[in-house]
Amino acid sequence: MVDNEAHRSHRVGWLRAAVLGANDGIVSTASLVIGVAAAHTGHEAILVAGVAGLVAGAMSMAAGEYVSVSAQADTEAADLELERRHLAEDLAFEHRELARIYEDRGLDAELARQVAEQLMAHDALDAHARDELGIVDRARARPIQAALSSAASFTVGAALPLLPVLFAPGRWLIPTVAGLSLLFLAALGAVAARAGGAPVGRAALRVTFWGALAMGATALVGALFGISA
Ligand SMILES: [Zn+2]
Repeated sequence: MVDNEAHRSHRVGWLRAAVLGANDGIVSTASLVIGVAAAHTGHEAILVAGVAGLVAGAMSMAAGEYVSVSAQADTEAADLELERRHLAEDLAFEHRELARIYEDRGLDAELARQVAEQLMAHDALDAHARDELGIVDRARARPIQAALSSAASFTVGAALPLLPVLFAPGRWLIPTVAGLSLLFLAALGAVAARAGGAPVGRAALRVTFWGALAMGATALVGALFGISA
């Protein structure tokens, strides 16, 4: 019971991915909006740039995630196929190979042999996938699901800095977008840290620092290349 509470790294995976996507959405959209606004662009053009940035970012997140998860799934499938063949061709060799792995991890030779034997009797491919190839959950790679969820979390994040663009009047636009975005970033960082059992303050500070840096950089670019009003 105590142990379950203490170790949380196994269940922050999906949350981490969602928070990262939302972070990306906030930082890139807020920076884009601030850069365009710093160039003294009209309100409508700022909004168009922000919405285009949201769509472009969400699509690029989806494509990137799909490609990377698919590539990983292909590699794992090929590895498993090879392992399946080896098992069919030379079971005795595979048995010694697995026993050797357990010996290297600290079991004595006789125990390693027994563990390898029992695990292989139970599910030989699974035992080799786990302990030789490091593939723990063979049904996990879902490219479409990964693509959709990262696009969705990016979109939610990107929508946050766009809201003040709709309501804030001209000269308050940059400070409002920047302030709210940093607030959202800090809150997200704190939530993720809390769920993962990590120090909350440090996580919030880290994420707002990088957000502020990105917004400062695009504000500078916008001011340098902007239409002089
Ligand atoms: Zn093997």
